[in-house]
Amino acid sequence: MEFKNSYLQGVYDTVARRNQGEPEFLQAVREVLESFEPVLEKRPELAETGIIDRIVEPERFITFRVSWVDDSGKVQVNRGYRVQFNSAIGPYKGGLRLHPSVNASVIKFLGFEQVFKNSLTGLPMGGGKGGSDFDPKGKSDGEVMRFCQSFMTELYRHIGPDTDVPAGDIGVGAREIGYLFGQYKRLTNQFTGVLTGKGLTYGGSLVRTEATGFGLCYFTQEMLSVMKKDSFAGKTVVISGSGNVAIYACKKATELGAKVVAMSDSNGYVYDPAGINLDVVRQIKEGRRGRIKEYVEAVPAATYTEGCRGIWGIKCDIALPCATQNELDGADADKLIANGVMAVAEGANMPSTPEAIEKFQKAGVLFGPAKAANAGGVATSGLEMCQNSMRYSWTFEEVDQKLHDIMVGIFHNAYSASQEFGAPGNLVMGANIAGFLKVADAMKWQGVAY
Ligand code: NDP
Repeated sequence: MEFKNSYLQGVYDTVARRNQGEPEFLQAVREVLESFEPVLEKRPELAETGIIDRIVEPERFITFRVSWVDDSGKVQVNRGYRVQFNSAIGPYKGGLRLHPSVNASVIKFLGFEQVFKNSLTGLPMGGGKGGSDFDPKGKSDGEVMRFCQSFMTELYRHIGPDTDVPAGDIGVGAREIGYLFGQYKRLTNQFTGVLTGKGLTYGGSLVRTEATGFGLCYFTQEMLSVMKKDSFAGKTVVISGSGNVAIYACKKATELGAKVVAMSDSNGYVYDPAGINLDVVRQIKEGRRGRIKEYVEAVPAATYTEGCRGIWGIKCDIALPCATQNELDGADADKLIANGVMAVAEGANMPSTPEAIEKFQKAGVLFGPAKAANAGGVATSGLEMCQNSMRYSWTFEEVDQKLHDIMVGIFHNAYSASQEFGAPGNLVMGANIAGFLKVADAMKWQGVAY
């Protein structure tokens, strides 16, 4: 699809030429640039000062070799990445992903999205992202530790509490953050808040584990309340994934009165019409890193179906995709719409394809885009940085209240921007514009040579 605005078309063409063979990154850039058409009508100086030409090019992109020794004594080699995308409003901030699908395109798409998401939180954080094609699945604790130590042995020279503060993402939880932090401390002889998602005994924040899933539900609750005068109470919910985001989305949605009937992993999904028993899921996933199909051994009334895609055929009022990018396409959107879905909010990053988003919007389904809806994780990471700087810890209730207020604020920022720029209720556009304007103004004030 061509852009109406020739300047934006030119920016996109340059990005496409420079980043050939990187479909995820181009998909993310296209979606954001499409939102800028009405902005440029009101703020032409953003084109004249080259803000948009600059914002699509990472400030720094680092790749490195990560070699480590497996349990059989064999040397293994992976590739490590860190993109430092934009530091206009604060130190680079964004997670590390360990998954075999990680490549330059995935890291750049995630880093680009992170710039706008972090801005939306209202906290002073720039955008970054990193990771490796290392697959933690099936690896021993010792192998994961040796990988993390090798990864940090290169990464440490590029990061710091006032420079770049990584966190977790797919495949990076408390165990990996611990190994990474330990190695950073050994190498630098400094105990600082250089990573977030740390354990509670060494500088972590309460609520960080729950934050993305809880935040997703706070955002969705506000979206339902303002745009449909409704709530989670009494609703049937389907959640894809069964990792960190999915588990805590399930917990909060249930606390808010909904019934979650299905969850998945990359092999398949479980359907439990009585409502998912989260203790069972947590024992499988957090306890022994097992597969979701084991759920039916503990809950015989539930059913397991091979293939994760089928989950979108289950009838529900609210769908929360919380697994990975492009996991919900146009055909899945058709099924959800035919089954009467009223709201979709993204826990994962870019889980819906552009075609799926268009279908939801045309059908009048409330749609909460990832940048806004899943910003609770990085927002609470920002609160962890704040507590580390103060050398102090807030209580669970204090952090949870701040998270709640931030998510409600993000919804209203995105909603107001959608109204101000002529697309009322289009939160994709609203989130992109609201996130962008703050970064754009900071870039303008800081001049060109950086
Ligand atoms: P986890 O590693 O804890 O869980 C990921 C879940 O998604 C697992 O159930 C995994 O199943 C499933 N999954 C992974 N790849 C695929 C695939 N190709 N198809 C289907 N399912 C898949 O990660 P998180 O919960 O932390 O992250 C999930 C999403 O949320 C990601 O998009 C991430 O970027 C995003 N996110 C996470 C934040 C956080 O704070 N953790 C913050 C903001 C966004 P399996 O075990 O089979 O691989």
